[in-house]
Amino acid sequence: MRVSRVTAAATVAALLTLSLTACGQEARGGSRYKAEAGEGGTIGLAMPTKASERWIADGRNMAAQFRKAGYETDLQYGDDKVENQIAQIENMITKGRSLLVIAAIDGSALTEVLQRAHDAGIPVIAYDRLIMGTENVDYYASFDNERVGELEARYIVDKLKLGAPVKGAGEPYNIELFAGSPDDNNTKYFWNGAMKVLQPYFASGRLVVRSKQSRMNQATTLRWDGGTAQKRMDDLISKNYGDDRVDAVLSPYDGISIGIISALKSAGYGTAGQPLPVVTGQDAELASVKSIIRGEQTQTVFKDTRKLAEQAVRMGDAVLNGRKPEVNNVKDYNNGEKTVPSYLLNPVSIDRSNTRLLVDEGYFTAGQLK
Ligand code: BGC
Repeated sequence: MRVSRVTAAATVAALLTLSLTACGQEARGGSRYKAEAGEGGTIGLAMPTKASERWIADGRNMAAQFRKAGYETDLQYGDDKVENQIAQIENMITKGRSLLVIAAIDGSALTEVLQRAHDAGIPVIAYDRLIMGTENVDYYASFDNERVGELEARYIVDKLKLGAPVKGAGEPYNIELFAGSPDDNNTKYFWNGAMKVLQPYFASGRLVVRSKQSRMNQATTLRWDGGTAQKRMDDLISKNYGDDRVDAVLSPYDGISIGIISALKSAGYGTAGQPLPVVTGQDAELASVKSIIRGEQTQTVFKDTRKLAEQAVRMGDAVLNGRKPEVNNVKDYNNGEKTVPSYLLNPVSIDRSNTRLLVDEGYFTAGQLK
């Protein structure tokens, strides 16, 4: 099936080139054969929101790299509204985009629109977030999402020294748990990765969730919204921590961590007598890296969006040229209809001791982190 879709996409590209030439305009690349090799095709890039730095960087990086590889790009942001994203993808299909790269807002809401993409012979790459419940997703490029959760939880375990031998049951530590958006397929991978690491400490009583909100569906944060997380944290503190302190908060995203830290500060944390708890995060967004340097947020997980963009561009270029993209995971990402061949990159844990890495890697300048 893939071959016929690729052929269809190449044919569309070739026809477009011919018709442009017929109109007296110079087609990019100049020859039909180059058009078939990907020159002159326009890639539709559907990103979720500009409210978070990472997606701005993802879109910018992919657009630049696709252009460098000889493509035009059509970059759209859905403002975290599912209906916007669907309309944007529909528009890309109507405009005959040769490939769609999609970071879904709601991973399960694209079945119909992707059927249309399939009927038009347009291949689809799921970017960072798996698209669920459809045959019509060809490849998936992401980070090892379970590993992200493991890194956050492992950080908490190390920081609270939960692994060290204790006399008797030892002093229990209080933790509260936050999960990502319930409609993002990544959420459960982050959560499961973290729980795998934390579970033995819940079982031994060393870690306690005083609110008892310890199931994922009690901890999710719709659309990863920092304000929503702040309200929930306010509530958790006022209802459960009158006479005790929070020692750690598992947070799956920097924007959520910022909300959590605001709630903690309003409740009096962040002073010499009542230091902030360990608060994790994800994405190494500038505001959070600065917060880590100031000693507020404790940890984040760095996912180099430039490398993810590179991977998606490589995959897209291969698909459009009838080559098989490189993948490194063909078993873990089943979307309910198929196991989507995936390429997963490695996330890296960052705390105060290694923020320098972000400068060495050229992700931020030293000046930005001052
Ligand atoms: C991404 C994370 C990001 C989150 C919120 C997830 O799908 O994998 O990197 O923190 O969305 O934008």
